[in-house]
Amino acid sequence: MESKTENKYIVDLNILNTHNEKGCEACNRKFNLGDSVVFACGAWTDDCARLIHESEAVFDENTRTWYERRYYRNLAPG
Ligand SMILES: [Zn+2]
Repeated sequence: MESKTENKYIVDLNILNTHNEKGCEACNRKFNLGDSVVFACGAWTDDCARLIHESEAVFDENTRTWYERRYYRNLAPG
């Protein structure tokens, strides 16, 4: 069960202070205390360092990396 927890965080005050100016990159909503969030790759160019809600991300077992859901679907072959 541990593999899926990589790069996964529960929003605390520190995360709120650091990231809530922009909010979630995937849905543009603000984070709330206790939300499950992940650092994910996506259509943005700076390498896999955008914080988004876990429910909007997919964990890729091959690369052991979180991807923004829509972006990941476009990556998938077929
Ligand atoms: Zn979101």
